[in-house]
Amino acid sequence: MLGIKEAVERLSSGGVVAIPTETVYGLAADVTNLQAIQEVFSLKRRPTDNPLIVHISSLEQLGEISKPLTKLELSIINKFWPGPLTLILPRKKKVLDAVTAGLETVAVRMPNHSLCLDLLHKTGPLVGPSANLSGTPSPTKKEHVQTDFGPSFPILDGGVCTVGFESTVITCRTNNLSTARKNVSANTKMPSHSDIIIYRPGAISEQQLSEFGSVEYYSASQAEQDSTGSIPILPSPGLKYRHYAPKARVQWLLSIDQLRAVTSTSILLLLDKTQLVDQAQAIEGTFSFQELIQSFNLVDCEDSWERFGQLLYDTFRVADIENYTHVFVQDIRRSTATSSLKDALINRIEKAISG
Ligand code: AMP
Ligand code: MG
Repeated sequence: MLGIKEAVERLSSGGVVAIPTETVYGLAADVTNLQAIQEVFSLKRRPTDNPLIVHISSLEQLGEISKPLTKLELSIINKFWPGPLTLILPRKKKVLDAVTAGLETVAVRMPNHSLCLDLLHKTGPLVGPSANLSGTPSPTKKEHVQTDFGPSFPILDGGVCTVGFESTVITCRTNNLSTARKNVSANTKMPSHSDIIIYRPGAISEQQLSEFGSVEYYSASQAEQDSTGSIPILPSPGLKYRHYAPKARVQWLLSIDQLRAVTSTSILLLLDKTQLVDQAQAIEGTFSFQELIQSFNLVDCEDSWERFGQLLYDTFRVADIENYTHVFVQDIRRSTATSSLKDALINRIEKAISG
C-alpha cells in the first residue's frame, strides 16, 4: 500500500499505480508518458483499440487535453463535475494516440474523491481505466485490485468506492464528432439528432442530463459500417467488448420458485428482501422464506439503491472467489421504485447475464 507522496513519486517517474475514485479503482499512469500508457494496456490485457479515460482535477488541466468547450459542455461540466460523468471531447493534438486509440477525441472525467483529486492536483492528468484484468468485474475496493494484480501491487487506498460502477459516458452533438480513425477510411458524422448521446449509462442519469437538452442512448444498430460494409465502426470502442461478468452464472430472480429448484450453493443479491418474504408468505404453508434461503449467501441491500450499486461487483467477485455457481439478482427492472441508478444497474447486470 502506498501513501500519497509515494504514489505521486511513482506516477511522476513513469510508474503505474492503482488509485481510488468514487466509481471504481483506476489503473493510473501519466497521460504524457507513452511507456507508462503501454504498461497499463499490457497489465490489464486491454485491447489497444479501446481508448482510456483521462482523469483531471481542474479545468486548467482539462485545457491541456481538450479543445475549448461548447456552452452545452461547460454547463454540463459545471453541474456534474467532480462526479461520475465522462465527456468525449475533441482532443488537443499533443494527446498521445495510445490514449485515444487514434480517435480525434478524448474521454475526460473529474472524479469526486478527495484523495484522488489531491493526487491529480500533484501529478497532473492521469489515464485511469478500471484497475482489473479486462473481462473481470471492475474493482470497488483494494482487495479486488489485489485479486487481479497480486498482493504487492502498488495501490493508493481510498476505501470502498461509494458509487461502485463505471461512469456515465456521453458526448454532446454540437461537436459533430467524427468516428474516423487515422487508419480507417470511413469518415461519417454522428448518426443522431439529439443534443446529448449516452454511450454508457452510469450514476448520472438520462433524466438528470435531460435538463440540458435532448438525450438519447447510443444503440448498437447505429453502428456505422466501414467501406466493405461488414465491420461496424463504433463511436465508443468499448461498446464492443464484454464486461463486468463473473465466472458464475448470473440470472435475474424472477420468482421465488426459481430458488426452490436450485441445488448448488448460490448468492442472492437483493435490493430489498421484504418483497420475497411476502411472496413466500403468499404461498402459505409450503415453505418459509427463512428455510428457503438457508442454503444461499444472502446480500440484502435493505431497499438502498446506493448500497445495491456498491455491492454489485463485490458480489460478483465473492461468487468467483468462493466458487459459487450461480448469482441470482433481484429483478430490479420490475421494481416500481425509481432511482437515478436504475438504468445503469440494469445495464451492468444484463451485461453480466449475457457475458
Ligand atoms: P473504462 O475505462 O474501461 O471503464 O471505459 C472507458 C470507456 O470510454 C470505454 O467504453 C471506451 O471505449 C470509452 N472511450 C474512451 N475514450 C473514448 C473516445 N475518445 N471516444 C469514445 N469513447 C471513448
Ligand atoms: Mg474497465
